[in-house]
This record gives sequence, structure tokens and C-alpha cells, in this order.
Amino acid sequence: MTSQRTRERLLGRLIDQGIQSMQVLDIIRSTPRHIFLDEALSHRAYEDVALPIGYNQTISQPYIVARMTEALLKSGSLEKVLEIGTGCGYQTAVMAQLAKSVYTVERIKPLLDRAKRNLKLLKLRNIDYKHDDGSAGWQQHGPFDAIITTAAPQQIPQELLLQLAEGGRLLIPVGGDDSQELQLISRHGDEFSTEVLEAVRFVPLLVGQLQH
Ligand code: SAH
Repeated sequence: MTSQRTRERLLGRLIDQGIQSMQVLDIIRSTPRHIFLDEALSHRAYEDVALPIGYNQTISQPYIVARMTEALLKSGSLEKVLEIGTGCGYQTAVMAQLAKSVYTVERIKPLLDRAKRNLKLLKLRNIDYKHDDGSAGWQQHGPFDAIITTAAPQQIPQELLLQLAEGGRLLIPVGGDDSQELQLISRHGDEFSTEVLEAVRFVPLLVGQLQH
């Protein structure tokens, strides 16, 4: 079920959908997605779909993880990366294999704890975790070369833009439940330029509500 063949089939799908970075493809190939899922769903781990992880949240679709990682990798430095919306930690695992350090923030404590266990299992140690509302970023560790947000706000939180380093990029889905676009925003001094990548569907970014 978690055989090499099902993983290779997933890689083929990602390539068909336009993912080109060998670095990203290699990391997806070698990162076990099944350990991030409950046992009842682990047989579906290498399908290119989002799946439930409890608490009304999902593990992102592999294509989206690949696409977002590739967009940040291609557009500049990945030394210090902030992630908002750890979930079960799959995107974190992929990013931690490219970045020097990853700072990740999640508002649901049991999910953050599960992510910590998963990432420890994979021996990824360049990750700092925080149980908090990520819409305020993580100022103490900024500025960041890249900020990746895996939940969608209606409007971009200004704090995230302010925590970008010179040349830094914020990758963020923006919009409501029915229509969201993935935006790549780059900082040049006090100017910000926006590129719209594609239509996406993420869970909402919930502001100011922690769950213990
Ligand atoms: N990155 C995950 C996807 C997680 S789904 C993956 O690789 O599969 C999005 C996550 O964002 C959820 O776990 C949700 O609880 C979290 N989230 C939503 N609003 C948030 C906020 N304001 N601060 C931090 N996390 C938030």
C-alpha cells in the first residue's frame, strides 16, 4: 500500500501537473506521507488529494505542497522560513529539507503536538514550534526570507508583510470559502509586488482563536 510504485505514480502526477524542480520532486519522493495520517487513511497517503486530519482540518494535497515549495525555492533565499498553519506537519517536513531553519505556528494545540512527534520521527531538527495565532507572524525570529501560509485569510495580515526580509516572499492563499487565489508577494524595500499563481482551496485562517 505504501509501496514504491504508488509513490512513483504520485511523482508522475506531479510532473504531469507541471512541477519541475528535481529538488522538490526528490524530497516528495523520499518523505513518507503516510506517517502524517491516521491509520484508517494511511492507505490513501500517496493519492494526490487533501485528506482529513481531525479538528476540521486537512493535510494539503501533494501537488499544492510541491507547487508552493517550488514557487518559494525558485524566487529567492530559503534560509529562514516562517510557516503559518503547521497542521500535521507535512509541508513543514518538505520545507525543513530545503530551509536552514523553519519556524512554524499552529493554533490547534493537539495538531501541533502531533506535528512535533511526526517531524521528530523523521529526525528533522531545524524546526521551532509555537502554539499561537499565526496571523501576527513570529516577530522575535523575523525578518524571514520566506513566509508560507497554508490557511486562507480574507485579507493579507499586514504583520506578515512587515516580517519579510529584503527580497523576502510571502506565499499565501487569499479569499473566502468559495474562491481563493494563491498570491506570491515579494518585498523590495518598502514596495511589495504581487503575482497570482492559481486558484486554490484552503481552510480559513482563523484570527484570534486558539484551541487547546
Ligand atoms: N500545512 C498543512 C496544512 C494544514 S491545514 C499540511 O502540510 O498539510 C491549515 C492549518 O492552519 C490548520 O491546522 C489550522 O488549524 C491552521 N490555522 C488556521 N488559522 C490559523 C492561525 N490564525 N494561526 C495558526 N494556524 C492556523
